[in-house]
Amino acid sequence: MPALSDFNLPTLTAQLQTWGHPTSHARRLLRALYQSPGKVTFNDTQLGNSLRARLATDIALRQSTIAAEQQSADGTVKLLLAMANGGSVETVLMPSHRPDRAAGCVSSQIGCAMRCDFCASTRNGLERDLSAGEIVEQFLHLKERAATDNRRLQTLVFMGMGEPMLNLDNVLEAIRRIAGPDLGQLGGRHITVSTVGIVPGIDRLAAAGLNVHLAISLHAPDDATRARLVPMNRRYNIPDIMAAARRFESITHRIPTIEYCLLAGLNDSDEQAHLLANLMENFRAHVNLIPYNAIGAGVSGTVYERPAQERMNSFLGILRHKNIVAHFRRTRGEDVNAACGQLRDQLTPVSLPVRTIR
Ligand code: SAH
Repeated sequence: MPALSDFNLPTLTAQLQTWGHPTSHARRLLRALYQSPGKVTFNDTQLGNSLRARLATDIALRQSTIAAEQQSADGTVKLLLAMANGGSVETVLMPSHRPDRAAGCVSSQIGCAMRCDFCASTRNGLERDLSAGEIVEQFLHLKERAATDNRRLQTLVFMGMGEPMLNLDNVLEAIRRIAGPDLGQLGGRHITVSTVGIVPGIDRLAAAGLNVHLAISLHAPDDATRARLVPMNRRYNIPDIMAAARRFESITHRIPTIEYCLLAGLNDSDEQAHLLANLMENFRAHVNLIPYNAIGAGVSGTVYERPAQERMNSFLGILRHKNIVAHFRRTRGEDVNAACGQLRDQLTPVSLPVRTIR
């Protein structure tokens, strides 16, 4: 049985038409779902008795339920959603510095096939793609949860489980619904898609005209180091990815983010900072340095460590000295297994000190 989140305005309109009900109800139903997801019901008397009966038997109000929830001392809320079609995904709500705003992080797949060695999401491989509706429901849960905390969900990043570019049709359709003026109303400019560097996907995203931001998970300035961390580098290497990021910038005029997860002794040397700076020459992009969140052994069995703060500061200093816009990502929710895929991997909370790095 399809769920309400599986429809957009044209497809729900067509469904109502097939059933012989007034098509104007499509807009009413979807508006109710997107505007107050926690309160949506098929019991609205304005829908009429026969349509209400039809909806009750033929369309599900929801296709996901909250199976587990963890709240960090810093306000980060991590939800584990169980999908009606099987499997579970993580979705995260992070409070913004503004007291009335929040940012969300959604998954695009259940598990992940990329096998990046420092990421927990991929340790059990790929289970399946998420449908557009299942991605939309993560947004709806986050929106609802933010409202409970008197916050408005203002931005959304595709940085949860999965590789968005390998489920791009569903990701694009979900973005259309989440961003669009008829439904989610978030606006493309408040959405960021993060990729391991699937070049054709980057080009398709640029051509889609959705106005979204792009983040590239680079993590190393040279192909040899990167291939150790990100196996997909053997297919799309650094020169190809950087060229695609530059094309994205020139087509969309959106400044891409280069994500770089700092791993002690692997990619955190001054020399590597200089190499990264060289890659960024004449390129309007920002560098986001991510202090590694410990996950235990990666796919290869290697155990990584977060570099010492002075080492990370030195790396950042070199980039800034070369006039590159670079920041540390604030690490959040460390006391609730903040690294991607960790809640699903291991539901028992660990008690790590919460450290906020700016
Ligand atoms: N597949 C996409 C989106 C998911 S990962 C991508 O690769 O971009 C989102 C970001 O979190 C990526 O930059 C990823 O490298 C980073 N990440 C994954 N595991 C991490 C960890 N243990 N510590 C810090 N960052 C991590």
